[in-house]
Amino acid sequence: MITTDILIIGAGPTGLFTIFEAGLLKLKCHLIDALPQPGGQCSEIYPKKPIYDIPAYPEILAGDLTDKLIEQTKQFEPGFTLGERANTIEKQEDGTFIVTTNKGTKHQAPVVAIAGGLGSFEPRKPPIPNIADFEDKGVEYIIRDPELYRDKKVVISGGGDSALDWAIFLSDVASEVTLIHRRNEFRGALDSVDRVQELKNLGKINLITPAEVKGILGKEHVTGVAVEKKGEAPFIIDTDHFIPLFGLSPKLGPIADWGLEIEKNAIKVNNALDYQTNIPGIFAIGDVNTYPGKLKLILCGFHEATLMCQSAYKIIHPNKKYVMKYTTVGGVEGFDGTKKEAPKAVVKAIQ
Ligand SMILES: Cc1cc2nc3c(=O)[nH]c(=O)nc-3n(C[C@H](O)[C@H](O)[C@H](O)COP(=O)(O)OP(=O)(O)OC[C@H]3O[C@@H](n4cnc5c(N)ncnc54)[C@H](O)[C@@H]3O)c2cc1C
Repeated sequence: MITTDILIIGAGPTGLFTIFEAGLLKLKCHLIDALPQPGGQCSEIYPKKPIYDIPAYPEILAGDLTDKLIEQTKQFEPGFTLGERANTIEKQEDGTFIVTTNKGTKHQAPVVAIAGGLGSFEPRKPPIPNIADFEDKGVEYIIRDPELYRDKKVVISGGGDSALDWAIFLSDVASEVTLIHRRNEFRGALDSVDRVQELKNLGKINLITPAEVKGILGKEHVTGVAVEKKGEAPFIIDTDHFIPLFGLSPKLGPIADWGLEIEKNAIKVNNALDYQTNIPGIFAIGDVNTYPGKLKLILCGFHEATLMCQSAYKIIHPNKKYVMKYTTVGGVEGFDGTKKEAPKAVVKAIQ
């Protein structure tokens, strides 16, 4: 059982900034995310796109913002359960909550902060009748650890950046890489398309277009895929892994069944106070919540996280009084005891 003060569901920008605000109050955080990496939409959908409305950054790439948020929270030593979806929640007699993931990992905390954004990103699955039988038995929709494919035969399908980038990367790891796409044109970055073409010419990627995988072969594990290519008879490719990379679609998913008040696929919260939901102890912050005037912006998520942490402190320490100090005055002390002191000149000026 993983125990913490605030259990955060969703490691997007809102969830990540919550770690910092909670850390200032000496509250520990653990984050669960269905994706294999933190950053939410910023790292999954648009890492290379500039954002112009983050205060004090006239321009910052979404991927760089994620890196900076992680750097800012490191001193508070957060825990992460990545690549797992929060599935169920149970309230205990002592008032704490136990959240269990789809992989069975259990987490216990007195406060739960849902920072689930648009919902957990679920892979788009190709319509192959027996595909579910081979999930985690050679069919993977997300590449979590490229080492799994070392010296193995791999078939990737898809026409976007993900399919192209992984085909390029795995051409140095796997013993054989086949990339299958249903069109001749790819949707990904031009330089990635060129690189795939080069690797094809070098015999390092087997490129098959326009074609589709229509079936999966094997008993306990994938041993091959059945392919249909326009104008040719169907054929079989021997492979150890089939990786369909057709993108991810967000779904509120299991959180919708937690007894929370939902309006238009978002969780209703008390915005006059602290973004608490209808269940005391469960908060919803960032894109996942709704209230009159709600704006789905990163900076709004940061604000909501800050207010929510103040209420979380009162739930966790009902008999303690917290006096807010500016970080420029109090400095920032990490959980390992190291302290970033406030600059002396500033302290003097404020005192
Ligand atoms: C193309 C694009 C451009 C944008 N540009 C801007 C911009 O310029 N400025 C701006 O302010 N905003 C912009 N946004 C919006 C901004 O990205 C969102 O407001 C922000 O990402 C919300 O952060 P979040 O942490 O609340 O949610 P998200 O970033 O959506 O993160 C939520 C995380 O929760 C996880 N999750 C959800 N449910 C579960 C579950 N049950 N179990 C485990 N994990 C779960 C998801 O996997 C996800 O990683 C843009 C969005 C897009 C798509």
